[in-house]
Order: sequence, then C-alpha cells, then structure tokens
Amino acid sequence: MGIFVHILSSRSYMKEIILLKLGEIVLKGLNRKNFEDKLLRSIRRRLYKIGEFQVKAAQSTIYVEPVHDDADMDEAEDCVSKIFGIAAYARACVAEKDLDKIKEAAAEYLSETLEDCKTFKIEAKRSDKKFPFKSPEISAELGAYLLEKFPHLTVDVHQPDVVVTVEVRDFGAYIRSGLERGAGGIPVGTGGKACVLISGGIDSPVASFMMAKRGLELMAVHFASPPYTSERAEEKVVELLSRVAKYSGRLKMYTVPFTKIQEQIREKCKEDYFTIIMRRFMMKISERLAQDKGAQALITGESLGQVASQTIGAIACTDAACTMPVFRPLLGMDKEEIIEISRKINTFEVSIQPYEDCCTVFTPKHPRTRPELQKVLAEEEKIDSEPLIEEAILNVAVRDIV
Ligand code: ATP
Ligand code: MG
Repeated sequence: MGIFVHILSSRSYMKEIILLKLGEIVLKGLNRKNFEDKLLRSIRRRLYKIGEFQVKAAQSTIYVEPVHDDADMDEAEDCVSKIFGIAAYARACVAEKDLDKIKEAAAEYLSETLEDCKTFKIEAKRSDKKFPFKSPEISAELGAYLLEKFPHLTVDVHQPDVVVTVEVRDFGAYIRSGLERGAGGIPVGTGGKACVLISGGIDSPVASFMMAKRGLELMAVHFASPPYTSERAEEKVVELLSRVAKYSGRLKMYTVPFTKIQEQIREKCKEDYFTIIMRRFMMKISERLAQDKGAQALITGESLGQVASQTIGAIACTDAACTMPVFRPLLGMDKEEIIEISRKINTFEVSIQPYEDCCTVFTPKHPRTRPELQKVLAEEEKIDSEPLIEEAILNVAVRDIV
C-alpha cells in the first residue's frame, strides 16, 4: 500500500510535455524569426481546439506544455504531428535539474518502454552549462541507475532497442525515448497564398497537401453544377478539405455555381471541346477569385497523361486561359503514388465515395487529346463569356473550413 501511494503521488507530480524540433526553417537565415513566429502562431491556434497549452521556443526547440493536468496529450501529439515546419517531435517528461530527480523520473516515466526492451543506451545533452555534471557523466550515472532498476537490461551503444535521451536545458531537464518524424516541410503561410481547384476526387486533396507543405496558405475553389451535382457531392468536398486542413490549417472554400456555363458550353460548342473549354472557364474564374483574395498561384491535381484533359496539348490550352502560375505538384506522379499519399493524409476513403463531379456531368464521348489553341478559342468565342463569369463570381458561396 505504501509503495502504491508513493507511485501515485510521484506520478501526479510528473509533468509531460511535447518537444518539437524545427525542420527546414533553420536554414532560412534572416527570415528565421518570421518563420518561427508563424509556426508558433499556427501551433497555438491549432492546439487551442484541444485545450490550454503554453507554446514557447528556445534553442531550435519548441516546447508544448499543457496548462492543466488532464490535457489530452494524445490528441495534442496527433495535432502537432501534422504541422509543417516540424522535423521531429517527442513526448518527454520534465524533471528538476538535479541528477537524482532525473534518474527517478527516467525510471518511472520510461518504465513500460524499458520493461519491453532488452538493450538501451543513454544520450545526454547538456545545453545548460551551469548544470554541474557533463554529458558523459549524466549518461554514466543514469545508465548505472537504470541497469540496477531494470536488471534484465544491457547497454548496447551501437544498436540499442531504445535510446533514452536526457536534455538538460534552460527550463528544466527533459527525458524521452525516441523521436518521431514530424510532418516536415515549411510553416504554412510563410510562402504566400495559393488557390487550389478542389474536386471530390483523389488527386486535388493530395495536391493541396503537397503545396501547403511547401509553406503556402490555401484557399479553395469548387465548381458545382446543381441539379446535375448534388448537395452530398459538395459535402464530400467539405469533408475532404477539413481533412486537408489538419495539415494546411484553416482555409476558406468558395463554391462557384457552374451549371449555366456548362449548359452554354453544351449548347454552343462542339462536343469534343467540352472538357477543355470547361477547364478554361474554371481557370479564369479561379484566377479572378484568387486575385481578389490575395493568392498568387493556382493549384490543380492534374497528372500528365492521366486523362484526355491532362495531355501536354490539353494542359497548354488550359494554361493559356490564365496568367497566374499554375502549380501541378502531381504532374510527374503515378496514380499509385498519389493514392499512397491520400491514404497517409486520410482523404482516400472520402475521395472514393461515389458522388458525381461537374467534370463528369457532360463528358464528351471522344474528347480531344491534342486540342489546338486556335480552334479551342474559336469554339469558346461562340459563348458570351464575360457576363457568365461575372454572374458566377457574384453568386459564389463561402464556407470556413477549420
Ligand atoms: P481529381 O481526383 O482531383 O478529381 P481527376 O484526375 O479526376 O482529379 P479531372 O477531373 O480532370 O482530374 O480534374 C483535374 C483537376 O481539375 C482536379 O485535380 C482539380 O484540381 C480540378 N477540378 C476538377 N473538377 C473540379 C471541380 N468540380 N471544382 C474545382 N476544381 C476541379
Ligand atoms: Mg476529378
């Protein structure tokens, strides 16, 4: 009973935090402060939904510290694992900067891990030079203590099952085992803003994820053609974007009513040009919305040769519809590779739900795979585009995706 109470009481004093190691942003020299500030802000904003956490940075490390004991650390860990700009992270316990306290805390905090393994080694880092023991001394002392507490263990400095790391830093001593790989990339928002054309398919959510990883803040445009496309199809896109938002952070989704434009194309243009003209309208409308909202590039989920509208000739005709750069991060990828990422970011099972997309509503039987721009333009001129584009933009619906 006495021992039980002792364990309980010491455990309740043990504070657990999450340590985040910065990624590529450390390379950015003078911009570093700006990067770090943006990253801190987005970590705080995202953790806000989970509970109260103190987030501070020092010595290339960010400390995520729960304010209350009952914080949901699993959820917090999952949240930070998806934030770009973080190369690695680990849960750690905080101990007082006292060698005996460090030993006790390590034995208790890592007891399950150490029970389950056969070999270990200690890595000690002392960045607080006022701490009276040097790193090798900390390693030796703690190693001996753990060998005594867990007699089944042996030390293996080359290929240990577990690496126990002790970092003696300004604010305390941190004890952890292992380090998880973070989301990598660059903090969202440090690279400007871009507008993704989002469908309900597999590709565009993956494209969104990939460009957010390179530091872009996102806005999303979706074209809907009711009654040919349903409310459910739009809800599917909302669900996809909210999964993307776990990585990209919050964003706005603009839904453009596209029925009238598609009907006009069907009525006035040659069937084999339907798809390419429709895609050109998408680019033009997206570009205007992007400009209006301060985005500097468009993003699509196109992959070269995947379908008729994604041949080199079709892409040339699509590109000619706008002047903004168009980022196509999936251009050189196979479907299998794209699916692998979509599974990883948890969008795959939503993407494969069978709802119609406006692209599939009026598909020509024999789309042009080698369209010539002159002919495309001649077909397009049969439509009085400007009023249709203006009307579509006027009737855009906005949603917040968090
Ligand atoms: P996805 O899996 O992203 O739907 P896809 O292989 O089905 O791609 P397409 O339907 O030809 O390809 O669309 C190519 C790209 O055009 C998409 O990746 C997306 O960026 C954009 N797009 C297609 N449909 C829409 C839509 N309804 N609204 C907005 N953008 C769209
Ligand atoms: Mg599609």
